Amino acid sequence: MIRDVRVFTGDTVLTHAHVTVDSGLITTVTTQPSPVGDGTEIVHGQGRTLLPGLIDAHAHVFPGNLEQALNFGVTTVLDLMADPAAITTLRQQAGTRPAMADVRTAGTAATVPGGYGWYLVEMGYLPPFPTLIEPGQAEAFIDARLAEGSDYIKILIDDGSTTGTPLPKLGEDTITALIDHAHARDRLTIAHTLNAVDAATATRAGIDVLGHLFLDRTDPDLPHLLAEHDTAVIPTLAVLDGLFGRPHGAELLADHRIEPYLDTTSRQMLGFGPIPLDPRARHDLEVPRHTLSQLRDAGVAILAGSDASNPDTAHGATLHLELELLVQAGLTPIEALTAATSAPADRFTLPDRGRIAPGLRADLLLVNGDPTSTITDTRDIAAIWRNGQRVPRTTHLHQANDYR
Ligand SMILES: [Zn+2]
Repeated sequence: MIRDVRVFTGDTVLTHAHVTVDSGLITTVTTQPSPVGDGTEIVHGQGRTLLPGLIDAHAHVFPGNLEQALNFGVTTVLDLMADPAAITTLRQQAGTRPAMADVRTAGTAATVPGGYGWYLVEMGYLPPFPTLIEPGQAEAFIDARLAEGSDYIKILIDDGSTTGTPLPKLGEDTITALIDHAHARDRLTIAHTLNAVDAATATRAGIDVLGHLFLDRTDPDLPHLLAEHDTAVIPTLAVLDGLFGRPHGAELLADHRIEPYLDTTSRQMLGFGPIPLDPRARHDLEVPRHTLSQLRDAGVAILAGSDASNPDTAHGATLHLELELLVQAGLTPIEALTAATSAPADRFTLPDRGRIAPGLRADLLLVNGDPTSTITDTRDIAAIWRNGQRVPRTTHLHQANDYR
């Protein structure tokens, strides 16, 4: 039982509550302490806040990443492109090992031959994967992804104009066919887009989630278009900053609430520093920030995502940074916390998590302080539970010394 604690339920704040857990589930959430049996572990919550375990709505998962995510209170990771064989193995492991975050996956993403995403094959991060061109190939493409275990469908829509590297891109008719066939199979669709035109195209074609905000220009009509189509957005401010000239890795490495818990890979990723940019690239990091406040005002669902394993990101840690950036860009702390808990659970149809309520999974994060007013308090972690099991946090202090 967690006693005398402030609770963010996923929707609202209870300033003084008591939460009990049994057999992996939340059993009661009350304002009066209920009697507990002998031997029940009591965790004192004074000065602390209990949150639903965080959900990272945009990540790319490789071995070791789910442990890192959980080490920072991220109990569910939504992978948005991976090698289907590798992620299937990780998912099976996560089902039995308490030290790993739970995971859902898009598996192979849809793109044209040699299009956006293929650089991951050329760099050796992914094995070669199937691609498509014509709308007539969409149904078989979707069915093959579902057979591989994809929970939802990722569609890459990017001609390289934002990064400055010209690329072939999926046509609008093929995008529409992919979305239609995914919806016919009851699956959610998520688009990678980085500019306003592609975001609007995907939205009109019926995409459910935009995996990034766009960087090229502010489009005053787009927030209303997204609201009208009930399209959710994962802003990914942290990774856009990191990839387009404003890295935050050094800030995370300097934070004593973050740094001791980072593994070697995370330290390397956060130590990248500024990434060289193509002079042809078209981007303005103020555009996503300005757009975010318009989206909020238009009532568009906002989901928090780190886009780890990209350079300048770390699984788990970058989601905490993303929450801070969302608040700096105009969300309230409660709106930011919603974006990392109930909002992704609702959008990705994970009704067993994302909230603190009786009957839901006991995926819980206890932090010192009050992130419902000071968002960076999410980093001051006191305890993590996954499926009702307390997760011992792993420190990597010896590696910290090596790093310096
Ligand atoms: Zn991504």
